[in-house]
Amino acid sequence: MKLYNTLTHKIEEFVPMQQGKVGMYSCGPTVYSHPHIGNFRSFLVADLLKRFFEFKGFQVTHIMNITDVGHLVDDADEGADKLEEAAKKQKKDPMEIAQFYTDSFMQASKLLNIKPANKYPKATEHINEMIEIIKKLIDKGYAYVVDNNVYYNVEKFADYGKLSGNTLEELNAGARIEVNQEKTNPQDFALWKHDPKHLQQWDSPWGKGFPGWHIECSAMSSKYLGAEFDIHTGGEDNIFPHHECEIAQSEAASGKKFVHYWLHTRFLMFDGEKMSKSKGNLYTIQELVEKGFRKNAIRYSLISSHYRQNYNFTFDGLKAAQQAIDKIQQCVLRLEDLRKNAKAGEIRPELKDLSSNCLKDFDESLSDDLNISKALGVCFDFIREANKAENMNSTEAAALLDTINKIDSVLGVLEAGESEVPVNIIELAEKRKAAKLAKDWKTADAMRAQITSLGWTVEDTPGGGYRLKRAGEAG
Ligand SMILES: [Zn+2]
Repeated sequence: MKLYNTLTHKIEEFVPMQQGKVGMYSCGPTVYSHPHIGNFRSFLVADLLKRFFEFKGFQVTHIMNITDVGHLVDDADEGADKLEEAAKKQKKDPMEIAQFYTDSFMQASKLLNIKPANKYPKATEHINEMIEIIKKLIDKGYAYVVDNNVYYNVEKFADYGKLSGNTLEELNAGARIEVNQEKTNPQDFALWKHDPKHLQQWDSPWGKGFPGWHIECSAMSSKYLGAEFDIHTGGEDNIFPHHECEIAQSEAASGKKFVHYWLHTRFLMFDGEKMSKSKGNLYTIQELVEKGFRKNAIRYSLISSHYRQNYNFTFDGLKAAQQAIDKIQQCVLRLEDLRKNAKAGEIRPELKDLSSNCLKDFDESLSDDLNISKALGVCFDFIREANKAENMNSTEAAALLDTINKIDSVLGVLEAGESEVPVNIIELAEKRKAAKLAKDWKTADAMRAQITSLGWTVEDTPGGGYRLKRAGEAG
């Protein structure tokens, strides 16, 4: 099993700390808004990796945190707390906001058939653990207190920059002129913040305050996986400052190597553009499902490209994903029919080989730094050959089904298909929506007429969305 390690910039052989076991930590959502497809690409890569380890017989302990305090708008020490900002905007308590969006995250994870982590620790429930690490960092001379704030002194950690390449020399050369006067070095970061106006406050040896975002992951990962563990995953935007600071904190506090393999997922594009709130393309999983896309197609689409490549998510890609899954499902239907209705018998050697070669090649492909395109290629070669096999007996059908199930234990796309809106109907509805936005009423009406002629109705929903129903269907 080989993985690309961001820390060493190399593809390395994976050697677990404990034979047969993997400890894995993934930076989870900051629960101030609905997570979007870009966030989920990273969560799905973690899921794919975990499922593949399990396929290979490893026992995986997977921890994914929930950030419900301390994540500031600009990822560093400036700007408002994302949770607090959402709370003020919606006139709610921050914990209410956190619960609401945690539920949304869990629901979307379930829709995408993501295997639950062993634990989803919440930052607000681990304040004591954070305080303990901060105390240790102060004792060891890595952190200092100024006016009830605690900062990490990056100059004390010689390896600062080893993950991201952002060494102090480089950072200081490009530093902004406005610097926080409290900090010894402009690159020092907050471990504990004092802010009387902040809505979430805890007692600490340095007075009331709240933790910095980075210390949360150091505290929760070491609590559940130990001070040293195998794999840490996240999006590429987590590399700096978040993961760089996690390393500085954890290694200074424990004196151990924090993480052996760092895995980062590249950004998702939408239709060739960067995803952003202003472009309106930060789709959530629930929104795509409401549009009628199949949840397993969304999953397939988001895992179908290599995690170290930017992936361009498009509605056409979703359509292709649906077709790909249909191909597998048709093969499964035929095999199930044969398994139930054909006579029992011996498995022909060529079919035995077909299965064992498929599983071997699938394993080899994903063992090569999660080469998913190659693995999917292996899967579809198998489907094609299985479809060609004639006069199959029930024993053979059962064996081929078993192979597909083993592959799907990693891909996770074959859940029961629900009745769904056909892709061409969704496309017409999307064209109608675009035409309406452009105030092209003529095209919008023509699209509606086409949808109706195909036996569907489109209803507008508040906020500019729509709902598709089969004509005559209630609700
Ligand atoms: Zn984190």
